[in-house]
Amino acid sequence: MDLSYSGNLSCSEDTSAIDSSFSSEYRLSEGEQSKPGSPVRSRWEIIDNTNLDKVQRDMLGQVTSILDCSTSVARTLLMHFNWDKDALFGEYADRGVEWLLQAASVTSSNQDSIGCETSDGELFCQSCLCEVPVDGTAAMDCGHTFCIECWREYLKIGISEGRSRRLTCMAYKCGAICSEPKVKLLLEGLHDTVRRYERSLAESFVDDNRRARWCPSVPHCGSAVRVEGDLLCEPRCSCGKHFCFGCGEEPHSPCTCRMWELWTKKIADADESETKSWMTVHTKNCPQCQKPVEKNGGCNLVVCVCGQPFCWLCGQATQKRHTWDQIYGHECGRWKDDVQLNVDKVRRMMKRYQHYYHMWRSHCKSLEVEKKLQGWLEGAEDHVDQELEYIGHLPEYHWLDDGLQQLVEARRVLGNSYVFAFYMFGDLYQDQVSPDQNLINQNLFEDQQQQLESQVERLSQLLQDLDKKPADSSIRHLVVNCTRSVDTRCSKLYELIEDDLLGAVEPVHGCIAAYRGGRPCKTTWDELQDTGECVTSSRADFNGCCASEAESEGQVEGRQWSARKRPMTELTNHMAEAKIKWPCPSERVAVAPRH
Ligand SMILES: [Zn+2]
Ligand SMILES: [Zn+2]
Ligand SMILES: [Zn+2]
Ligand SMILES: [Zn+2]
Ligand SMILES: [Zn+2]
Ligand SMILES: [Zn+2]
Ligand SMILES: [Zn+2]
Repeated sequence: MDLSYSGNLSCSEDTSAIDSSFSSEYRLSEGEQSKPGSPVRSRWEIIDNTNLDKVQRDMLGQVTSILDCSTSVARTLLMHFNWDKDALFGEYADRGVEWLLQAASVTSSNQDSIGCETSDGELFCQSCLCEVPVDGTAAMDCGHTFCIECWREYLKIGISEGRSRRLTCMAYKCGAICSEPKVKLLLEGLHDTVRRYERSLAESFVDDNRRARWCPSVPHCGSAVRVEGDLLCEPRCSCGKHFCFGCGEEPHSPCTCRMWELWTKKIADADESETKSWMTVHTKNCPQCQKPVEKNGGCNLVVCVCGQPFCWLCGQATQKRHTWDQIYGHECGRWKDDVQLNVDKVRRMMKRYQHYYHMWRSHCKSLEVEKKLQGWLEGAEDHVDQELEYIGHLPEYHWLDDGLQQLVEARRVLGNSYVFAFYMFGDLYQDQVSPDQNLINQNLFEDQQQQLESQVERLSQLLQDLDKKPADSSIRHLVVNCTRSVDTRCSKLYELIEDDLLGAVEPVHGCIAAYRGGRPCKTTWDELQDTGECVTSSRADFNGCCASEAESEGQVEGRQWSARKRPMTELTNHMAEAKIKWPCPSERVAVAPRH
């Protein structure tokens, strides 16, 4: 089984919640997503040109055998139910097959032909208003009969206009769905049209199916992803595109789709809105000529270029005579406080946004650097591999690989956690969470967030300084432990968000995709054991999730490379030869301290 493009496989064996039809032989590429240690929440498979038909056949087969109908009727029914076969079978159990067929506008059997037969054995076609010999006409399942030329023209137009899935009978007010075999028969010889028709029916499996989604890659790779279980997940397509199944955007957990949508919009017109906010805070329109006027210090009397004096606090026109705290003949009284409060509020909201934006942005920048590091490591591994005529991962460097993978994933989570906080503790849920509770929640969240942040920075530092330290086994030990604790911190943060924060508010905008984890269990006990290191966790702990991994490595044991234990210096030497460098310190972006 080719798993080269799969998502992270869960350690759990409990897949009872997942449709059993999923494990059939057509799996080309798939993945799973779940909280580590809990049942698999989502599982996905990649659908591409080669298996689009095959993946439907199973479902069509189930419907044809239970309802005892043809494949084309089964397809029409499934399309009517948006490929939700459970809903279809539910209605079947409740209301029977006749109801189903009627609901989906399927005419079950051949009716007597309905047409106007003329005296000389010819039929009068209601469409072209011609008399046609009977063998030049065709009847749909509903019985309505027209001449073949009219049918062909009608179907061709329907298909070219993209109505392949709802081609109905030509007769006035009939509305019966044209059966698939009849359509194909009538379109005999029109290969392109038939192909287009078949393609459209096949793609309905993705287009009309809430469990399937086309890969959002640009240019489009031609594949789709189908999900079983929780629809909130972040699958990776075979083309490498990683996306949120809910909204099709880049993976954004722990933000909900709604938060991410708001955020991307907000940062897209940040310039504009920032200018606007600045104007609100720093300028006021002249009551005379309406031009924005900026206050340049001093008292509350401002004079516009047009010569109009006005009160800065309330914006009303006044006369020029004033003292430092009073304008002659002008009282804005209580209103002044409101206006000042309003200005303060806008200013506070701006500062708040800037804080979260800055934190998010800093982590994004760190992520770029760390991804480069990952790329460089891959380059270095390839170089080492080629030398030994073996292409594949070097088990000796799994800990480094795992560490980087975990770092990149955790960095993404950490950055997005600021976006989450911006909305969670901002105004998105203010109707549902009291201000007091909100403050408690925020403190709870920030505690966890800071713990994650310090672990992530530590791991980042460890990995970025590898080339400067003497490469001994204690570094490997540090990295492995730090990788695991970053993983645990991420997992805890998701738990808090899902159970206590989003779990306590109405799921108006849905919940979030499960934490994917890095690949923390790839470093096996045996690898560490071989080097004579001790690890803090138990052997069972490691082997629990790595049994299959360890096995597959066992199979290649005995190859030339496996007998050699390469010290860190050797890797960095190889990297130097290949002119691959860790990023220089100036490229390493540090996160600014909190305000
Ligand atoms: Zn006709
Ligand atoms: Zn009809
Ligand atoms: Zn793709
Ligand atoms: Zn989304
Ligand atoms: Zn003016
Ligand atoms: Zn003055
Ligand atoms: Zn005033």
